[in-house]
Amino acid sequence: MRIERFVVPPLDDNVYLVVDEPSGEACVVDTALGSKELLAKAKALGATIKFIVNTHGHPDHTADNEVLRAATGAKVAIFEAEASRLLRNARSTPWYLPAPPPASKADVLLREGSEVRIGGTVLVTLHTPGHTEGSASFYSAAEGVLFSGDTLFAGSCGRTDVAGGSPARMVQSLRRLAELPPATRVLPGHGPETVIEKETWIADLAYPVV
Ligand SMILES: [Zn+2]
Repeated sequence: MRIERFVVPPLDDNVYLVVDEPSGEACVVDTALGSKELLAKAKALGATIKFIVNTHGHPDHTADNEVLRAATGAKVAIFEAEASRLLRNARSTPWYLPAPPPASKADVLLREGSEVRIGGTVLVTLHTPGHTEGSASFYSAAEGVLFSGDTLFAGSCGRTDVAGGSPARMVQSLRRLAELPPATRVLPGHGPETVIEKETWIADLAYPVV
């Protein structure tokens, strides 16, 4: 598995191009406003983007879904409880975008345990609510990699004071992720990557994160 990370607007979002090298099949994890960078790298690597996987439906992470879909024919996959956000996003303009993002309809509704397959590479869906009700993380046990979206950041976690957020569910989700193998590489939706064993603060969470 080859992973390319880009930090892109509108909010220094991390987007990832994940390539199954033997087959040349790829997926992206979130698009933000990074379609140009993702497409250029996929082209340079000779990779075919099959899926656009969203960790959650916030427009800063999903704004270029439709641009990328139009360019590649890739299918949009998101946790089922989150899919309605992709449509709702088109109704308003967040402060960090110049215009509402185009409505995006999910092609694939993910559930706990759903597998996203690109060639021989499998990403397993983990439902990790707390930032939003349908936030998900994507895990490859074979590669020891977790895409954690706005659930787990290096040293912190995503906000829970937004619509659909829940401090209590965030704590549950973080504790769940903390049980992954200690050497698991964590690739979040914002900020630098980390490793599960470095996130020792999760074990000390006695109260819901606000
Ligand atoms: Zn978010």
